[in-house]
Amino acid sequence: MKLPPLEYACPATLDEAVALLAAHDGNAKAIAGGQSLMPMLAFRLTAPSLLVDLRKLAHLREIKISGDGVRLGALVRWRDIEDDERLTRAHPLLKAAVAHVAHYQIRNRGTVGGSMAHADPAAEMPGIAVTCEAEITAVGKSNSRVIAAANFFLGALTTALESDEIITEIRLPPWPAERRWGFQEFARRRGDFAMAGAAVFYDQDGAGMARNAHVGIIGVGDRPRRLGEVEAELEGRVVDEAAMARAAEVTSTVVDAQEDIHASAAYRRSLAGTMVERALQDARARS
Ligand SMILES: Cc1cc2nc3c(=O)[nH]c(=O)nc-3n(C[C@H](O)[C@H](O)[C@H](O)COP(=O)(O)OP(=O)(O)OC[C@H]3O[C@@H](n4cnc5c(N)ncnc54)[C@H](O)[C@@H]3O)c2cc1C
Repeated sequence: MKLPPLEYACPATLDEAVALLAAHDGNAKAIAGGQSLMPMLAFRLTAPSLLVDLRKLAHLREIKISGDGVRLGALVRWRDIEDDERLTRAHPLLKAAVAHVAHYQIRNRGTVGGSMAHADPAAEMPGIAVTCEAEITAVGKSNSRVIAAANFFLGALTTALESDEIITEIRLPPWPAERRWGFQEFARRRGDFAMAGAAVFYDQDGAGMARNAHVGIIGVGDRPRRLGEVEAELEGRVVDEAAMARAAEVTSTVVDAQEDIHASAAYRRSLAGTMVERALQDARARS
C-alpha cells in the first residue's frame, strides 16, 4: 500500500527535531532507518501528520567505548556494530545478538534507537538492554533524562518515551573480559523475529561459582524480561548439567508466554527453557 499523506522534515539539529515533535503534539514521528516505521505506515498501523527524519544528526551515529562501558548513539546501525572490531572484546554479547537481527539489507539501515523505540517484544537489542541493565538517554523539549531499560518497555510496541522525546544514546555497563556469556534464539527462518531467545551471562569466582548471573528472554511475552527466579537458581552455584537443566525448568515455569499464530503459549514456555539451557551451555564452554 502507498503511505498515507504526510509532511516531511529533515532538521539539522537535535533541538530542531525535538521542537518539531513537540509542536505536533503526538502527531509527528521520528524516522531513523525506517525499517519498522515504513511498514507500519504502509499497513496504516500508524498515521502521523509529520515525519521528522533524524538522518542529519550525524553525532548520534557514534560508538564510544571507555571504562564506563559502551555508548551507542541512537543512529548506530546494526552494520556499524557488526563492523566494529572493538566490540568483540568490549561487548561480545551485544555483537552476537545483533548477528541475529533480520537480513543484511535491514541491518544496513536499521538503528539501535529505532529498535528500542519500536519495542518489538522479539527484538534482540531491547533484550540485551534489559539483560545488561542498560540506560537510555532521551531528550525532550523541556529536559533530558536517563531511563533504566527495566523501566523503558511498558508492553508490545509501547515504551516510556513521551511523544516529543528522542533517544540519543544507549549505555551498556562495562563488560569484564572473563565474563561467561551466551545468546541463543529460535526463529522459523534465519533473520525472522525470534519465537524465543535468551541472553545470559555470569562472572565466575575463584571457586568456580556463578556470580552476578543475568538471564533475559525475548519473543515470549509482551516485552523483554529478566528472569530473577532463574538468576537466583544460578547464583553461587557451579553451572553444571544439573544447574542448567534446573534453569531451563524454572524458566519454563516462571516465564509469561503469549500465544499467537506461530506458537501456543505452552510451546513458547518450553522453547524459552531450551534457549536458556543452550545459552548457558555456550557460556560454560567459554573460557
Ligand atoms: C523483514 C524485517 C525483519 C526484521 N527482523 C528483525 C529482527 O529479527 N530483529 C530485530 O530486532 N529487528 C528486526 N527488524 C526491525 C529492524 O531491526 C529495525 O531496524 C528496527 O526495528 C527499527 O529501527 P529503524 O531505525 O529502522 O527505526 P524506524 O523504522 O525508523 O522507527 C521505528 C520507531 O522508532 C521511532 N524512532 C526511531 N528512532 C528514534 C529515536 N532515536 N528516538 C525516538 N524514537 C525513534 C520511530 O518514530 C518509530 O516509531 C526487522 C524489520 C523487517 C522489515
